Amino acid sequence: MWRAAAARALRGGGASAWRAAGPVRAGGGGKEGSRSLPSVPCPCFSLSVPAGIINFCANNYLGLSSHPEVIRAAVEALEKFGAGLSSVRFICGTQSIHKDLEEKIARFHQREDAILYASCFDANAGIFEALLTPEDAVLSDELNHASIIDGIRLCKANKYRYKHMDMQDLEAKLKEAQKHRLRLVATDGAFSMDGDIAPLREICQLAQKYDALVFTDECHATGFLGPNGRGTDELLGVMDKVTIINSTLGKALGGAAGGYTTGPKPLIDLLRQRSRPYLFSNSLPPAVVGCASKALDLLMESNAIAQSMAAKTQRFRSKMTAAGFTISGKDHPICPVMLGDARLASVMAEDMLNRGIYVIGFSYPVVPKGKARIRVQISAVHSDEDIDHCVEAFTEVGRKHGAL
Ligand code: PLP
Repeated sequence: MWRAAAARALRGGGASAWRAAGPVRAGGGGKEGSRSLPSVPCPCFSLSVPAGIINFCANNYLGLSSHPEVIRAAVEALEKFGAGLSSVRFICGTQSIHKDLEEKIARFHQREDAILYASCFDANAGIFEALLTPEDAVLSDELNHASIIDGIRLCKANKYRYKHMDMQDLEAKLKEAQKHRLRLVATDGAFSMDGDIAPLREICQLAQKYDALVFTDECHATGFLGPNGRGTDELLGVMDKVTIINSTLGKALGGAAGGYTTGPKPLIDLLRQRSRPYLFSNSLPPAVVGCASKALDLLMESNAIAQSMAAKTQRFRSKMTAAGFTISGKDHPICPVMLGDARLASVMAEDMLNRGIYVIGFSYPVVPKGKARIRVQISAVHSDEDIDHCVEAFTEVGRKHGAL
């Protein structure tokens, strides 16, 4: 009964409208204003339970958004440093905690320096224009996140789009781009719609061969990919070869908000002088800084949290595959359950909610036509029982709707 009531509450909040329209598209489509958004019953809903519904669609990969130490750090920063700065960074919007967090981010990624933004969307909007001139070239994976696409649109460099993770195509484009002064290859580390991981080793080899820099967006990797959760570059052994990393504080690192660029010090200095979202947007609120800072402390103290993801991801992926589903991607906690038909994805997601599992169906224009799916996201906080319950619910609902 509680389940049905909670499901109704979510629907009342607009879950079905959200589902029908889909979240704002990676790649550019969509009018956010025309959508109603599901409101979740309480803060704890970020992963689980008072409402009896288990959330399998949050980017809360490590469960840190509800970690008691992270919450406490946010409260302490709020009390000590105030609600907000009422200023951009370079006027009166920099406190010791902002500098400390930037230093900590750089240390976490083993880079020289870092710069904070209000979001990773802003970090992506600010970097290409500041770094590249009309004499330069940027080579971008066709499935890169919308914010990378928009950031590239804002710069005057020559633009090349290579086929998704296609190294032959990237090489051809790099050859073509030799005529330019500087080349920057830009890729998501992990692609959020498909749960696939960029072939960074090969990308870095090509970048070396054709004298290019490499930029990665690590929003769906920071904190949990690689032995110490440093991200895709650590996972694939190229930490010393990726030049620039942009990532978010709004997913695995406490889930509040904020983004950053980390990389060589001269680049970060340049961004502080020229990057428009940094220069012209308010400083991160202390509570948000406190929360991200504590999340990084926890991850640097021990790699146990980061490592706890892999086995759970594997459990879900292998059980779902054994049940007869096709799961896109590989070894990533983003597990898209491929269904093809948009209506099937929508009604199955609806039925999953009736069984206590909150997931969302994605269809065109969020993903290509005919490739509708339910995107499941595994978190370190899901228990084995939660995962098994999710697989059982999928199996029941899949059978009922003819997906199996
Ligand atoms: N890049 C990628 C790959 C993302 O998935 C997202 C968020 O969905 C962003 C950038 C933007 O991150 P933020 O929420 O910090 O603006």
